[in-house]
Amino acid sequence: MAVQGTVERKYVYDFAEGNRDLKDLLGGKGANLAEMTNLGLPVPPGFTITTEACQEYLATGREPDGLAEQVAAHLTALERSMGRCLGDPDDPLLVSVRSGAKFSMPGMMETVLNVGLNDRSVVGLARQAAGAGGQAASAGSTDRAGSAGADRFAWDSYRRLIQMFGKTVCEVPGEEFEHALDDVKQARGIRDDVELDADDLRGLVDTYKKIFRKHTGRDFPQEPREQLDLAVRAVFDSWNAERAVLYRRQERIPADLGTAVNVVAMVFGNLGPDSGTGVAFTRDPASGAQGLYGDYLANAQGEDVVAGIRNTIPLQDLERLDKRSYDELLDIMARLERHYRDLCDIEFTIERGKLWMLQTRVGKRTAAAAFVIAGQLVDEGLIDLDEALHRVNGAQLAQLMFPRFQLDHEVQAVARGIGASPGAAVGTVVFTSARAVELAAEGQRVILVRRETNPDDLQGMIAAQGILTSRGGKTSHAAVVARGMGKTCVSGADALDVDVPGRRFTVAGRTVSEGDVVSIDGTTGNIYLGEVPVMPSEVVQYFEGSLDPEHIDNALVRAVHRIMTHADQRRRLAVRANADTGADAARARRFGAQGIGLCRTEHMFLGERRELVERLILARTDDERERALAALLPLQRADFVEIFREMDGLPVTVRLIDPPLHEFLPPLEQLAVNVAVAQERGEDVAQEEALLAAVRRMHEENPMLGLRGVRLGLVIPGLFAMQVRAITEAAVQCARDGLTARPEIMVPLVGAVQELETVRAEAERIIADVVGDSGVEVLIGTMIEVPRAALTAGQIAEAAQFFSFGTNDLTQMGWGFSRDDVEGAFFWRYLELGIFGISPFESLDRDGVGRLVRIAAEEGRAARPDLKLGVCGEHGGDPDSVHFFHEVGLDYVSCSPFRVPVARLEAGRAVVETTGSDSR
Ligand code: PEP
Ligand code: MG
Repeated sequence: MAVQGTVERKYVYDFAEGNRDLKDLLGGKGANLAEMTNLGLPVPPGFTITTEACQEYLATGREPDGLAEQVAAHLTALERSMGRCLGDPDDPLLVSVRSGAKFSMPGMMETVLNVGLNDRSVVGLARQAAGAGGQAASAGSTDRAGSAGADRFAWDSYRRLIQMFGKTVCEVPGEEFEHALDDVKQARGIRDDVELDADDLRGLVDTYKKIFRKHTGRDFPQEPREQLDLAVRAVFDSWNAERAVLYRRQERIPADLGTAVNVVAMVFGNLGPDSGTGVAFTRDPASGAQGLYGDYLANAQGEDVVAGIRNTIPLQDLERLDKRSYDELLDIMARLERHYRDLCDIEFTIERGKLWMLQTRVGKRTAAAAFVIAGQLVDEGLIDLDEALHRVNGAQLAQLMFPRFQLDHEVQAVARGIGASPGAAVGTVVFTSARAVELAAEGQRVILVRRETNPDDLQGMIAAQGILTSRGGKTSHAAVVARGMGKTCVSGADALDVDVPGRRFTVAGRTVSEGDVVSIDGTTGNIYLGEVPVMPSEVVQYFEGSLDPEHIDNALVRAVHRIMTHADQRRRLAVRANADTGADAARARRFGAQGIGLCRTEHMFLGERRELVERLILARTDDERERALAALLPLQRADFVEIFREMDGLPVTVRLIDPPLHEFLPPLEQLAVNVAVAQERGEDVAQEEALLAAVRRMHEENPMLGLRGVRLGLVIPGLFAMQVRAITEAAVQCARDGLTARPEIMVPLVGAVQELETVRAEAERIIADVVGDSGVEVLIGTMIEVPRAALTAGQIAEAAQFFSFGTNDLTQMGWGFSRDDVEGAFFWRYLELGIFGISPFESLDRDGVGRLVRIAAEEGRAARPDLKLGVCGEHGGDPDSVHFFHEVGLDYVSCSPFRVPVARLEAGRAVVETTGSDSR
């Protein structure tokens, strides 16, 4: 009851009161049911209980004040509009109680159908079905007519309610109901549920009630309103069910949103052959191809289709069965696409020839379909290129860059299922979710094989490379969830006879047992025995320049080309690559890199050059040290020439050596053993002893915080000078060859401006000496990767022409997390506790490390307005982080060559991004 003087919150909305923009409050399903209602489409009447009601319930453990009254008022209105009362013994109204969060979480939360049935209203329902249906009230394949069919239907609905209610609301183990059903079928010698007659089902209701009583200690509730309230509560509770929590974590859906609950007048797809239920997409969600796409199941309730329990027929065949409904459906689908300006997926039911829309939403799609559809919608004039760019994302592009199977004529598919979620997956066959998790934890690649999956398989699906099922279409649980995760899935491979307890399947006379390897192609649906080799994707071939989008008939490559071109036109951020060799630089350039943002020079000291580094470290005199450096100089110069050539005309940031020098020496233990053995043999070990002494001397407890970066340059005379000279000489050599080298020398690990000033003074002298009249210009700047540098950026900018944020070290030192240890050691616990939703080494921690970046960018620019700003930590290729770097006004991001296209796309998206989109 509302307290006097306070305004009671509105917790319940009639469908006619909502619209699609109210997803936060009404959840996706409720908002879209409201939208369809307001479009005048045939939606069964109903109302939505808001996510706010759920949030309050979850926070306090009880329904918010006023909810019960508001539900009662809306129920009365619903009853009035239907001309029936909930659970009325003579002519009952039944309702479904359905979850529906802001973001779709397929199959993760609960639904209860047929609420309102009890011992008395079941009779009324039978009468209703017989009265209204006449001939059409026949049900099941045996086609019994009239009241016998109606009776059967009513008792079947009742037993479904007890089963669903028992399992969902009262946690009665679902198998008990299933075993009881199997027992009846066995006793009657029948295979299919639809062959059970009314007496069988009446008996089953009795058995179910006993099971209910046994587990709950009470009778199945007969009071319709109590059923409704308990079902609503169960849907609220299902927000925190383990599988829902896991799914949210996987999909990065915030944990505090809560679910809305939709209470909808029941319509029945199981009233006979002229009834049925189906799901459809307005375009192919796997390839994006235009056309009608869906599955239909006659004489069934919705859950039967989604669960993939019975084999469906293609939606096109509905035209033959019920042309009027089919035409109406097509018309509605076209309207929905125009209205939503996007691919929609829908669920519908036909009750005795009358079409009802039960759900629509902007449909999930594969990465390839996302690009293709966005391109098509631009062609159709429904969206512009900015919107097309907004509707795809870097994670999808990354997926399209995965390799695919390399097939020659020798490789024959052993069977073919439905290509439900694309990709090429190879792995060891497992049959249970638990086994998948177990083997994956040992580092094995596994393919999870099931007849069909259900939400309990989620963990195994996450652990597996791919999912293979023998039943279910593209809309089955396996297909929908796998697509959402970007995981390869082949569904409905009905040639497979899957024996889960026996841990094997048979196909084409062959037996495949747990431990055998299979390869599955989620695009074609093909299944291969053994391991099939993989090759680069078409999208990578396009980026490599070996596929010309203007001259090939490939909708995906053309769409990617078009959207990437637009992203490049729109973006403000430049994209560079982290590359240390000529080959990497060349590849990065083909992928669209506009320069090198980080060339780590340390790899140039490996291999046979280690010996020179050893000489440098062991040098006892200036002369010895200088000779070692002089030997390194031409080698370094040649390295830089190669890179400058590949990056002709583009900037190349070369970082002076960063890691502690002892990393280039042999490990202490190994060296100690070698020395001891050699001494034992009486060999001359003077050299090894000196090395051992140096290793001991240079040993550090915390090398990441030790003698590295600029500190090395200040301690070892001539080291940085040699590198600066090599870089500048290489640039001058290129200039003489008619090329344009644009070196930027970067000093690592600076924490104080004085460090940089010292290095810079020496570097400037060398540059001036080498450059002469070559016209080469060399910039000098620093990494910002020590928190102190970020906080004193105003001072440091006085001595730097550019900053490049080293967000790997900045994260390490900002959080105090050893970057090489923590992810494997305990991040799982931090993720479990929700301390962060994703590793801060993967995606930039905006609040903490991001704040350091922001401060440094602002204070650096304030001190030196033309300061060039970039980032070269791993975050430079992470989609979310790219948006952040755009926001704080950096000039470029730099990432590994393979992620350059992703960064280009996201940099474009950052410009066109608007809030409140449907694009998840
Ligand atoms: C960084 O710290 O972000 C960086 C790019 O340098 P490195 O990873 O080589 O330490
Ligand atoms: Mg670093």
